[in-house]
Amino acid sequence: MNLNHSITSPKTSQDSQWKLLAERVLDGGSISRSEALAILDSHDDELLDLVAAAFNLRHKYFGKTVQLYFLMNAKSGLCPEDCHYCSQSKISDAPIPKYSILNREKLLDGARLAAERQSKTYCIVISGRAPNEREIKAIETIVPEIKQQYGLNICACLGLLTESQAQRLAAAGVDKVNHNLNTSQDYYKEICTTHTFEDRLETLKNVRKAGLQLCSGGIIGMGESRKDIVDMAFSLRELSVESIPLNFLHAIDGTPMQHKEYLTPRDCIRALAMVRFVNPSSELRIAGGRERHLRSLQPLGLYIANSLFVGDYLTTQGQAPSEDYQMIQDLGFEITGQAISPSPSAENQPCGNSCENSCNGSATSTSNPNANQSAEKSTCNSSTPGCCG
Ligand code: SF4
Repeated sequence: MNLNHSITSPKTSQDSQWKLLAERVLDGGSISRSEALAILDSHDDELLDLVAAAFNLRHKYFGKTVQLYFLMNAKSGLCPEDCHYCSQSKISDAPIPKYSILNREKLLDGARLAAERQSKTYCIVISGRAPNEREIKAIETIVPEIKQQYGLNICACLGLLTESQAQRLAAAGVDKVNHNLNTSQDYYKEICTTHTFEDRLETLKNVRKAGLQLCSGGIIGMGESRKDIVDMAFSLRELSVESIPLNFLHAIDGTPMQHKEYLTPRDCIRALAMVRFVNPSSELRIAGGRERHLRSLQPLGLYIANSLFVGDYLTTQGQAPSEDYQMIQDLGFEITGQAISPSPSAENQPCGNSCENSCNGSATSTSNPNANQSAEKSTCNSSTPGCCG
């Protein structure tokens, strides 16, 4: 098949084009930037063919498993940076909770909730340009305790890191560090002026030198071109990133991007598929904005991606975990790599996440159809928007 011919002739039937492209990748080949662009430009009528082809890649590396991650906004707001998408930046007027790093009990509460929600990974996220000594020490202290009690993997998202800070995190037992590229090198200056794409690359290199796994992804829907999305996916490939969270901009009132809402659910599916084709063996997580932008196509997204955040995002609310478990069960997929089950009951415990300031601080237990164990459905009704993680 002449793939290039198909790409430049959109009226040509492309029923098998994506399947053949997937076969090439499954055979150890790779796709070009123009082919990645063609995925983003593909017609709605090809969407199911594209998803089926991307599923072949997902299935080779991850079968029908789904990895769950749980986010803890361990420090909120108060950030001197100006990331235009983020409700926690100095230029945001969004009415979010603002607090310094949470104490030991709250971080442990979050770990317990992560384990109860069948997450394998507990993501400890702090706002800010870079961690200070107190924050690094807090992470060094809490991580061994969490691992001992709950057996969770730990992903730390602390901002820009030096090599010695990354080494300290590795020594404390942190498994991976999240630091998103967010967009392409060319477009980065349009979304932030207080640090650069190169600063972010430097942190990722420091993390790698310390022997930690890399979690890095991006946000689409910020006004970037399709080429920018492709460039970002290829940058992630060059870094051999193990885990890629793909966010869909949740345009937040009070941020410079408050009026950017143009993604369709099919755009999101095409972006997930393109990232999967470019990074076939990397874990791919449907991250912030999935409920808002994928909407009823969320299950289709899971045929491509193999990971989800369960519960709330940093300052925005996710759908109830019970809905995620139901979706996973309905697809015939299975949650994998669960952490050690905690002993305390989940009932009537504070959720402990960033939206705690605007909820009643309690959670009600709902049945978990996938695992026959209780899981919490947060009753938090916060509408405070937030950063994309
Ligand atoms: S994304 Fe991180 S560094 Fe940027 S403004 Fe938000 S909290 Fe600060």
